[in-house]
Amino acid sequence: MKALVKTKKGPGFVEYMDVPEPVTGDDDVKVRVYACGICGSDIHILHGVYPTNAPIVLGHEFSGTIAEAGRNVKDLAIGDRVVVQTAVDTCEQCEWCRQGLRMLCPERRSVGSGRDGAFAEYVVVPARHVFRLPENVSLTAAALCEPLACVTRIVCERTQLHAGDYALVSGAGVMGQLAALVAHANGAYVIMTGLEADEAERFPMARRLGGVAQTVRADQEGALEKIAALTGGLGPHVAYECAGAASSADFCLRALRKTGTYAQLAIPGKPIPIDMDLALYKEIVLTNSYASERSSWLQALRMLEHGLVNVEPLVSAILPLDQWEEGYRRTSAKEGFKILLSPPPENREG
Ligand SMILES: [Zn+2]
Ligand SMILES: [Zn+2]
Repeated sequence: MKALVKTKKGPGFVEYMDVPEPVTGDDDVKVRVYACGICGSDIHILHGVYPTNAPIVLGHEFSGTIAEAGRNVKDLAIGDRVVVQTAVDTCEQCEWCRQGLRMLCPERRSVGSGRDGAFAEYVVVPARHVFRLPENVSLTAAALCEPLACVTRIVCERTQLHAGDYALVSGAGVMGQLAALVAHANGAYVIMTGLEADEAERFPMARRLGGVAQTVRADQEGALEKIAALTGGLGPHVAYECAGAASSADFCLRALRKTGTYAQLAIPGKPIPIDMDLALYKEIVLTNSYASERSSWLQALRMLEHGLVNVEPLVSAILPLDQWEEGYRRTSAKEGFKILLSPPPENREG
C-alpha cells in the first residue's frame, strides 16, 4: 500500500512510498483510512524537532472504517465508522497508566510517531482504543476528533469555566477556533485575540462558527484596555494560549484578572519567557495539558454527536495523499485551516 513515511530521524526524510500492508493481530482492528489531518506536530517531525521511532508511517488525526477485526474483537464489526485514541501502546503498569493518565506513561508509543500511523491506506490499532462514531457525525468532521479531544482535555478537564465566565482565546488557528467553540459550549463569553493576518480569514471564521463574541487585535495599541473594558474592568477568568508565541503568552498573563487561570494549549517548540513575578502578584493559576486522554475523547464525541460544536467548516481541503507536500506547505504557511490527506483510492464518503 501507499504511505507517507518518516524514513530516518533528523530534518527531512519524509517520503511517499510503498510499504507492506499491516497485519491485524487477535486484539486489533485494521482501519481503512478515510482521511488524516496534518498536525503542527507533523511539521515538527518533518523538520526533525519532534521525536519519532523512524522508520514509521506518519499521521494521527484520522477517521475511517473497520476493514478487518481480530478474532478476540467482539464489539466492532467490518464497516463500522471509527476514530482512534492516539496514545496506543502504554505499559498499563506504571503509576500514570494506573491513574488513567496514559499520555504520561514513559513507555507510551502514539499512533503516527511511536508506531505506524494513518497517512496510509490502512492502519492497525488495538481495538480497545477505537471509538465507533455516532451516526450523525461525518467522517470529515471525525478527522478533527483528535485535536478536539486535546481541547476538551484542557477546557473541560484542566480548567474550570462556569457559565458567564469570560474566556480569552489567544490565537485564531485550528486549535484557537476549537478552544473558542468548546469554551463557548461551556457557557463562557469568549474573546479571541489575534494579529493583523487574522483579519482576512480567521476572525471571520470565528464569527461564522459562532463561539466567539468579540475579536480583538493584540498587535494594536490599547488591546489590553479593550479586553478590560469587555470584561467588567477585571479581565478574563481563563486565558487559553493557542499560538505558542512568547508575545501571546505575555498578553494572556497581562490580560487575565487576578486569581485567573493561564492555560497553555499550544506547544511553543522552544523555551518562552513568562513573567513569574506578575503571575505571583496576581495569584494566577498556571496550567496546561499534554494531548488527550480517553475521557477527553468521549467528551469530544458527545459534543460532536449533540451538535454542541460545529467543526466541519475548519476542514479547508482534502488532498490526495500523494500531494502531501502541498498540504504540508499550506499548513506551514498557515493558509486556511485544517488540511486532510486522503489515501488512494480516493476514500470519499458515500
Ligand atoms: Zn495532532
Ligand atoms: Zn505506563
